Amino acid sequence: MKKILILHTGGTFGMVKMQPGEILAPSQMQARITAHVPELEKIARIDFKAPFNLDSGNVQPRHWQELAGLIYHNLDSYDGFVIIHGTDALSYTAAALSFMLPNLPKPVILTGSQRPLSEIRTDARANLINAVELATYAIPEVCIFFGTRLLRGNRAVKISTIDYGAFESPNFPPLAEVGLDVHIANGQLLRPAGPPELKTAVSDRVLTLSFFPGLQPDYLRCLFYTQVQAVVIRGLGLGNLSVQEKSFVPLIEDLTGAGKVVTITSQSRHGKVDLSRYENGKLIAAAGAIGAGDMTVEAAIVKLMHLLGQYPEDISEVRQQFCRSIAGEISEQIVL
Ligand code: ASP
Repeated sequence: MKKILILHTGGTFGMVKMQPGEILAPSQMQARITAHVPELEKIARIDFKAPFNLDSGNVQPRHWQELAGLIYHNLDSYDGFVIIHGTDALSYTAAALSFMLPNLPKPVILTGSQRPLSEIRTDARANLINAVELATYAIPEVCIFFGTRLLRGNRAVKISTIDYGAFESPNFPPLAEVGLDVHIANGQLLRPAGPPELKTAVSDRVLTLSFFPGLQPDYLRCLFYTQVQAVVIRGLGLGNLSVQEKSFVPLIEDLTGAGKVVTITSQSRHGKVDLSRYENGKLIAAAGAIGAGDMTVEAAIVKLMHLLGQYPEDISEVRQQFCRSIAGEISEQIVL
């Protein structure tokens, strides 16, 4: 029988009602999980750990580092890992783990739920059972299981606070679909290219903001007085920003000239940023901004945090590496 380590880190999954109809609070889960989901023991030999117990809004990069370290140092002891996590920041943690654990040889499956485990019509039970079963397969990736689909972690976004299918992978097909049977898209899976590594250095000197018509680029001049090293601008459509009235071109030129990385993602979830298609995009690229291709906003942010952690003194290397796939987070290499 396969051996799976479940890491419970908090979120709605394990919360209990404190007063009728009132506020939910986190609680330690091992006994409750086993009581509510006795089937787990038929799927695998399970060990539990609860490294922290947080609403995922409180998760910090140091928690990503803790999880990555726990997984890395237990790779020889388990066949797979399941992380129970709050849904709000789930895709950020998944992206971070995918970058921190290069050449991961075993599945790391993050899951959570929209309803606590103890409530009727909970999705927690099914999500956990499926995540644990999928963690027994040869899926050497950091993934998110939610509803009926297994998604590549660094491709996933939370799209709903009410649907049981809370996550989507807008630019990449699911790695597995679970219905009557389990269908794994074996051809899509990453394959380790060497021995597993642990790369946990991470920086928080990243900022993201959304462009909208009328946004004053001058408001962002304050960035020159901060420690920010990389900016993710969520543009429109293919990566569009104003280049006439209230033009972003001088700001991008100055940020780039000051040694900061400026990247452009899109407010449109599906499709990719392409700065070569329109005149606006060409001017934005010429000013020094890098289009993030079909990366999610979440993946672009966390990738910059990771790269700035790895190469704190080498912005040119950060720019180069941002354009390449580290863990399958982007479909095509970006040409600078
Ligand atoms: N606020 C919760 C969290 O992200 C929501 C959830 O788990 O669904 O921790």
